[in-house]
Amino acid sequence: MTIHHHPPDELLTAFAAGLLDLGQHVAIATHLVGCTHCRDAVRTMEHVGGAVLAGLPPTAMSSGAFASVAARLDRLVAPALPPRRAAGLADIPGLPPFVREYAAGPWRWIAPKVHLRPIQLPEASSTRVFLLKSRPGTRMIEHTHTGFEMSCVLTGSFVHAGGHFGPGDFDLGDGDDDHEIMIDSQDDCICLIAMEGDLKLNGMIGRLLQPLIRM
Ligand SMILES: [Zn+2]
Repeated sequence: MTIHHHPPDELLTAFAAGLLDLGQHVAIATHLVGCTHCRDAVRTMEHVGGAVLAGLPPTAMSSGAFASVAARLDRLVAPALPPRRAAGLADIPGLPPFVREYAAGPWRWIAPKVHLRPIQLPEASSTRVFLLKSRPGTRMIEHTHTGFEMSCVLTGSFVHAGGHFGPGDFDLGDGDDDHEIMIDSQDDCICLIAMEGDLKLNGMIGRLLQPLIRM
């Protein structure tokens, strides 16, 4: 797998520092599954962060710190719930193992030749995560969004003004982008999308379809 499109350094740095919300974290983690280049970069950033922490002068603990930890050790711990396995997510290639444990809804039609499958995050996130499956030859309606949109290609490929995107590639769109996307692979193109805000379809057909599309 040759990867041509990577997340910008700022996103990788924020990932390494644990600053992303869960939806954004899932998208970057998905890219890292297939990209040794970005995995190495994140590892280096984590080492730098650890070295900075190790170089900080030690701070005295509060007087009650030990008693507080000891009291917590005596408390009963609720048994961990078994992971909710999502039937079907196990068959999707390129997902990180922790994402395979998430629950997911069924595939549902959102536009001609396009289906969407929501992934249910275990904690609140302002970013929605879903799988988008498009049939070969699909021309996505031109659209913009009110926030950013991260796309990780899992299977198939698409092309737009920003280049050609195949398995492992990462595409970052912000609200200013106008996308006209063409699925150019022989097989279905499945992407993991992390999206903040809402999708806005442009043009007359888009305006007609907008009320029908529930994301
Ligand atoms: Zn990469």
